[in-house]
Amino acid sequence: MTYLELLECPRCGTTHDPHVLQNLCGCGSPLLARYDLGAVGKAVSKDDIAGRPADLWRYRELLPVAGDPVTLGEGWTPLLPAARYGVQIGLPRLLIKDEGLIPTGSFKARGAAVGVSRARELGAKHVAMPTNGNAGAAWALYAARAGIKATIAMPTAAPAITREECVAAGADLHLVEGTISDAAGVLATLDEFFNVSTLKEPYRLEGKKTMGYEIAEQLGWRVPDVIVYPTGGGVGLIGIHKALTELRQLGWIGPRLPRLVAVQSTGCAPIVKAFSQGLRKASPWIDAGTVAFGINVPAPLGDELMLDALYETGGTALAVPDEEILKDLKDFAGTEGMLLCPEGAACLTAARQLRASGWLSPHDEVVVLNTGTGLKYPGMFSLSAHTERASSAAR
Ligand SMILES: *Cc1c(COP(=O)(O)O)cnc(C)c1O
Repeated sequence: MTYLELLECPRCGTTHDPHVLQNLCGCGSPLLARYDLGAVGKAVSKDDIAGRPADLWRYRELLPVAGDPVTLGEGWTPLLPAARYGVQIGLPRLLIKDEGLIPTGSFKARGAAVGVSRARELGAKHVAMPTNGNAGAAWALYAARAGIKATIAMPTAAPAITREECVAAGADLHLVEGTISDAAGVLATLDEFFNVSTLKEPYRLEGKKTMGYEIAEQLGWRVPDVIVYPTGGGVGLIGIHKALTELRQLGWIGPRLPRLVAVQSTGCAPIVKAFSQGLRKASPWIDAGTVAFGINVPAPLGDELMLDALYETGGTALAVPDEEILKDLKDFAGTEGMLLCPEGAACLTAARQLRASGWLSPHDEVVVLNTGTGLKYPGMFSLSAHTERASSAAR
């Protein structure tokens, strides 16, 4: 049962019918799903939710899907203490929300599960999107499970495994020179498809917001002081902010929201630049490039929503260099036994720097999002120093 009521434009306030396929508002802004939260509060309690299966569909009243979902068991990932590493960087209350354990290997599965489920029930037969890899892989696999067609366009430089996931899923895969913005050009050559590009349809965001619900529920229905998020298209950041705002309206958490931190790479930092200038919109980043491929998004459509979330929560935005990301990824694996993705490791670099600068205090409870498994990124470290010749090893 869903309590979805309407789609609302956060920029111009126009409302739209949620019972047909929708893309952007006429004014060009993404649309946000709105629910009858009063009715949700009467129909379901925190205790009801506690007794439900360990996946994101435990929040189904707050999700847009009316019928049977397309699911691979996504959601309810662990929120793990990382106190040993935390103490080293001066943040003993550090926690990792580990999305590396989710189907398809990245948190894009959350958006794909809800987005594909809703697109199918509204009659879509063919979805198409440009991607930096993980979203395309997730949507291709969930589309296969849903029995609908997927066309995926991705940069040639995207992590190779994500191409193979698309091919295995039977998607129509297009490899494009350049960035995700260049890959978007492929869609112009297609006809008869539903455009599921980042934030161009309203329901991927609804899937990703469940990270916010889970963090609150896993902490016993309260929020941490700070949430640190690797920011590309910003769906997770906007989604977590939306989720916590909804929980606050329901009265399931108190009035205080965590300070949200958007982390980018120094190789692609449009949101950090706009934030540092106090702007409400970002301008496109030229010559974007970083090892943290999932956050290589030069011109995100959700810039206004992201910047609003940062300003409103008293958060901040920070860009970190690739060398430090890889160093922190390795330090963390050696200290805590978790192989993060570079995007997740970028958040550790940011947390370390924000502690050093005094923006974070040793008392802060800080949640870092690890948005995918490190297993998707072979070749991050040189192994030559560890290679022995067969003869010497046999001796
Ligand atoms: C897509 C992606 C991100 C960025 O997510 P957005 O919601 O687009 O900001 C971060 N990390 C990984 C591993 C990703 O695949």
